[in-house]
Amino acid sequence: MRAKLIDGKAIAEALREEVKQKVAERVKKGLPAPGLATVLVGENPASQVYVRMKHKACQEANIISTGNVLPANASQAEVEDLVHKLNADANIHGILVQLPLPAGLDEERVLNTISLQKDVDGFHPINIGRLAQKGREPLFIPATPAGVMYLLEDSGVELSGANAVVLGRSNIVGMPVALLLVKANATVTICHSRTKEIPALIREADVLVAAVGIPEFVRGDWVKPGAVVIDVGVNRIEDETRKSGYRLVGDVAFDEVAEVAGAITPVPGGVGPMTIAMLLHNTLRAARLADGNGMANAA
Ligand code: NAP
Repeated sequence: MRAKLIDGKAIAEALREEVKQKVAERVKKGLPAPGLATVLVGENPASQVYVRMKHKACQEANIISTGNVLPANASQAEVEDLVHKLNADANIHGILVQLPLPAGLDEERVLNTISLQKDVDGFHPINIGRLAQKGREPLFIPATPAGVMYLLEDSGVELSGANAVVLGRSNIVGMPVALLLVKANATVTICHSRTKEIPALIREADVLVAAVGIPEFVRGDWVKPGAVVIDVGVNRIEDETRKSGYRLVGDVAFDEVAEVAGAITPVPGGVGPMTIAMLLHNTLRAARLADGNGMANAA
C-alpha cells in the first residue's frame, strides 16, 4: 500500500475527547451541560441502532441526551408538536430528528420546524441554503459532510485551487460536501447517475469524495496518482468467512486505490466515526449559542 491511511477512528476519538473536555470546562464554570434531544418515529431497526449509538456517545462526552419516541403512525401534527415542545425547552440545546421518517410524513416540514439554533444535524433548509451563499455561514454543518472536511483539514490537504470530484449529489452527503469544498476554494465537479465518463473526470481529481452507495465502485486505474481519496460509502457485501456472513466495504476498491492514491480513508474506520464526533461537536456549539454570548463564542 502506497497511500497514507487517514485514520478516521483515531481522529474522531481525539475530537470526542476534546468535546468532553470542553463540556467539563463549561460545567466547572457553572454553565449547563449541553443537552441533545433525539426524535425517533417508528421502529426502523437501523434508525434505532443509530439513535442508540448517538445516546451512548453523548453519555461518554457528558452531554445530556433524552430520547423521544413516537409510533410509526404518528401524525404530522404530533411530530411537529413534539419538535415545538423541544424548541421551547431551555435544557435542550440540540434537536435531532432521525431520518428517514415513516412514509406519509413530510420530512422537510418537520426539519423546517426545528429551531435554527438547535438544528445540530444541519438539515434545516436555511442552514443548507447558507452553505450555498458566499459569506453566509450556516449555524450548523451536517455531521457527515463536516466529518469529511475535518478529515481533509486534519490531514493538511491543500484544498485551495485543488480539483475535487464529488461522487453523489444527495442532500445529506454529496451536495453539502460539494458546497463545502467550493467554500474551501476547490474547483468542484459533481458526478451523479447521469454523468458521462466518470473515470475520466476522476482521473483529473486531486481530491475525490465518494458517496454513491455502490460497493467498490471506484477502481484503482480511475485515480490520479497521489490523489486524496475520502470514501463515505458503507456497503454490506457477502463474506462467508465472517461469522456475520457479511463485511463492510466502501464505494472505493480500497486495495487497488491505495496503491495509487496519496492518502485514503478506510471503511470501516474512516468517515463513519467522524459523523458521531461531529454531532457531539455541533451539540456543544448549540449550547454555546444558547449561552447568549453570540457567534464568536460558538466557533
Ligand atoms: P443516496 O442518497 O442514495 O445518493 C447516492 C448518490 O449517488 C446519488 O446522487 C446518485 O445519483 C449517485 N449515484 C448512484 N449511482 C450512481 C452511478 N452509477 N454513478 C454515479 N453516481 C451514482 O446515498 P447517500 O445517502 O448520499 O449515501 C451514499 C453512501 O454514503 C452510502 O453508502 C451510505 O451508506 C454512505 N453514508 C455514510 C455515512 C457515514 O456516516 N459514513 C453517512 C451517510 C451516508 P442521482 O442523484 O442521479 O440518483
